[in-house]
Amino acid sequence: MNEDGSRRWIRPKPSDGPWQRRRRIVAYALMVIYLAIPHIRMNGKPLILLDAPRREFTFFGHTFLSTDTLLFMLLLGALALTIFTFTALFGRVWCGWGCPQTVWMEFLYRPIERWVEGGRMGSINIDKTRNHFHPRRVAKHAIYFVLSLILAHTFLAYFVGVDALKVWVTQSPVEHPSSFAVMAVTTILVFLDFAYFREQTCTIACPYGRWQSVLLDKSSLVVAYDRNRGEPRTKGTKDRASDAGDCIDCVACVATCPTGIDIRDGLQMECIHCTQCADACDAIMDAIGKPRGLIRYTSMEILAGERKHLLRPRTVVYPALLAVVVGLFVWQLGTKEAADIVLLRSTETPYTESPDGAIQNQVRVKITNRAGDDRSYSIDVTGAEGGNVIIPVNPFPVANGKSETLSLFVVLPRSAFAAGGHAITVRISDGQGFAQAYPYRLLGPEGTGDGGEAIPGDASDKERNR
Ligand code: SF4
Ligand code: SF4
Repeated sequence: MNEDGSRRWIRPKPSDGPWQRRRRIVAYALMVIYLAIPHIRMNGKPLILLDAPRREFTFFGHTFLSTDTLLFMLLLGALALTIFTFTALFGRVWCGWGCPQTVWMEFLYRPIERWVEGGRMGSINIDKTRNHFHPRRVAKHAIYFVLSLILAHTFLAYFVGVDALKVWVTQSPVEHPSSFAVMAVTTILVFLDFAYFREQTCTIACPYGRWQSVLLDKSSLVVAYDRNRGEPRTKGTKDRASDAGDCIDCVACVATCPTGIDIRDGLQMECIHCTQCADACDAIMDAIGKPRGLIRYTSMEILAGERKHLLRPRTVVYPALLAVVVGLFVWQLGTKEAADIVLLRSTETPYTESPDGAIQNQVRVKITNRAGDDRSYSIDVTGAEGGNVIIPVNPFPVANGKSETLSLFVVLPRSAFAAGGHAITVRISDGQGFAQAYPYRLLGPEGTGDGGEAIPGDASDKERNR
């Protein structure tokens, strides 16, 4: 912020050094990957599809359904532990090199800004005019809007899939107003993020910057200023004292920083470890004939003159936990059946009694088909001999990835419920390898063994069963 509390617009000076060139290659590769992922298919499914409305998440050809709570929890746990491990070892390398916010902002939106507005000074001069309708700025925003439209469509493709997106794009908005509204709002948000909010996404909105204080330790890789070498800093190269440090206080490192900080103030939450200041400072060191690396990838312990510790509690515990969680995930995935079956009681009453004394139980069979294609499930009930089993649809078809519920009815004489219950087995098979048996306890009036009469208090028994 400026002294008066207004926003200080940051127009970072581009620094073209070896780190910037490496980051540019990585960024362009990531742009292609981020744009391509929704279009890539694996096992006939999208590579990544986060279908929240249908509660289905597809990763690398495997779909997690809403019944996969444990699997999904393990997956999220593995993701969190990967971030912990990665940050403990390599600091905020994700922020500086891989995060879509950094990639699109620093390697697409900012270069376009400099190109359209006449370089960094051109942008600063337009800022000074306070003219929001300066032709160059309007042109920049027009390009930004088109780019934001493309990015918003790509972003939403991760959630609705490219097939749904094609329908949205090719139909009139009148035919799908809500989808159109979602797309319009997303486009505006993307535009506002890259045109106005910018680095504040990293410094204010993103929680990861705040986590780093607990995820990093003094051995983690960070971009840092070597205070021992740089201080005491002296303005310029003339009349330098014999004990002057290598920093000539040229502020090239500050001018290039996309978050507007001075790395010489130490490790800061706002630093996304983008290495732009390292490149800028190396160019200055070359110019004044000093060795490179006054600002560099290092660790706080190395800067403090201590020995480097690669093995430390967090670099051992995090990977160990990660291995356990990934192992559990793979094991769970490997042992997962081709269908999830849940037997449920009637939502109304546990059983009903007909005038002739027969007891009827409704059993709701919920089948989730995770086989990868449409299946029909044959249902068979054993243990109900002497009674009647009514299965309205058998075999019962369930489309791939869907959950369907079928109600079957078991009618038994009152005498079958000697202790208020009766055990049956429900067998379900799809004829293509899936076959499971599920024990189930039918409910009936208690104390009615072997032709005996119902004991007084049937009504309260029913209440208890309910
Ligand atoms: S201080 Fe350096 S590494 Fe950190 S954000 Fe600024 S330019 Fe990037
Ligand atoms: S670029 Fe290097 S020499 Fe210039 S102010 Fe920053 S640390 Fe000092």
